[in-house]
Amino acid sequence: MSDCIFCKIVAGEIPCTRVYEDDQTLVFMDIGPIIKGHMLVIPKQHHDPITETPDDVLGHLIAVVKKIAAAQKKALKCDGCNIIQNNGVCSGQAVPHLHFHVIPRFEKDGHTWNWAAKKYDDMQEMKQLAEAVASALTP
Ligand code: 5GP
Ligand code: ZN
Repeated sequence: MSDCIFCKIVAGEIPCTRVYEDDQTLVFMDIGPIIKGHMLVIPKQHHDPITETPDDVLGHLIAVVKKIAAAQKKALKCDGCNIIQNNGVCSGQAVPHLHFHVIPRFEKDGHTWNWAAKKYDDMQEMKQLAEAVASALTP
């Protein structure tokens, strides 16, 4: 993808601060960290969104995400982490190349997500949504 920022980073056309790479994966520092130490885990091949990404690519990527979260805990002494993966402009995705954010979290880092839980009208509404998605599952 010639106009994709992350493909340009993989190709070395845009610089990045690299944390880890293997033949399929690149991990680098997010230029706009939510918390300092925020990293992005991407496949070297262009894939997007998650629903169109092959399972083997995703499987490897999530294993690297786990490794990075463990290394952040060890090196940065964080108390936990957020792992975030956005799909589509509606979700807040700015770069349409599959990526996992791995964000170290500290008990007193002061960051809060604007996570406002809503309510279903009734149990029937919740059940209908569950059944619709369950019946759309592919084997
Ligand atoms: P999204 O909103 O698509 O899930 O997240 C995209 C992320 O990529 C953002 O957190 C943003 O700071 C980061 N980003 C965008 N452009 C660049 C860049 O050129 N270099 C690096 N290192 N990060 C970038
Ligand atoms: Zn790309």
